[in-house]
Amino acid sequence: MGNAFLEQQLKARVDMVENQIQRACQKAGRGREEVLLVAVTKTISVEMAGVLHQMGVTDFGESRPQELWRKASLLPNNIRWHQIGHLQTNKVERTLPLVTMIHSVDSWKLLQALEKEAERLQMNIEVLLEVNASGESNKHGFHPEEMGIIFPRLEGIKNVTVQGLMTMAAYEENSEKCRPTFALLRHLENRFRSLIKAPHQLNHLSMGMSNDFAVAIEEGATMIRLGTILFEGISEVAR
Ligand SMILES: *Cc1c(COP(=O)(O)O)cnc(C)c1O
Repeated sequence: MGNAFLEQQLKARVDMVENQIQRACQKAGRGREEVLLVAVTKTISVEMAGVLHQMGVTDFGESRPQELWRKASLLPNNIRWHQIGHLQTNKVERTLPLVTMIHSVDSWKLLQALEKEAERLQMNIEVLLEVNASGESNKHGFHPEEMGIIFPRLEGIKNVTVQGLMTMAAYEENSEKCRPTFALLRHLENRFRSLIKAPHQLNHLSMGMSNDFAVAIEEGATMIRLGTILFEGISEVAR
């Protein structure tokens, strides 16, 4: 009974967001299939995340690894998990086997820890390099000027494959103000694309959250990470 109500609310919200994504793609002259929606489940219960998955949402993001571990252990194993927040090296071992992609590789030390663990497990992990493109001191990520040093060093990295870049814009009431941050990420992608050697590549830009995803899509986002706009205000019977 309670679940039907929850499902109804969630469905309406997902449809609304989907419409907004389609409109943003249209405005940008891009195909809807060029942009992956990663539903950020950090504020919702396992039950609600389960309903969302049943509705056909395939890709979930968590910012805290412990919460990703918990939800992944309780939900169907065909969910594609994305680690989107800061990952400490001591959490690599438990996180690596669970995730499809790590968006938040923010240091050379973390990249090396991932390489070592992926090698031990004889697996490959796809990652994005997080860039502090907004220049805020409280944000993780490589400094844009550091990127030129990082790319040549990737040549020795075999079990981790860099697929692109990720950033978070500063919160702005007016999302237009986020545009320079997203444009900078796209600029870095263009500038370094020829410098990066296969299998590493710059094909993905993970940028855009609830407040600014339309602008991010216009600036070339291939992955948007949405939480608030999908879930805020939806009431559950049991949390
Ligand atoms: C929480 C979070 C999001 C989602 O933000 P909303 O504004 O709730 O859509 C996206 N990316 C990261 C890294 C986050 O921590």
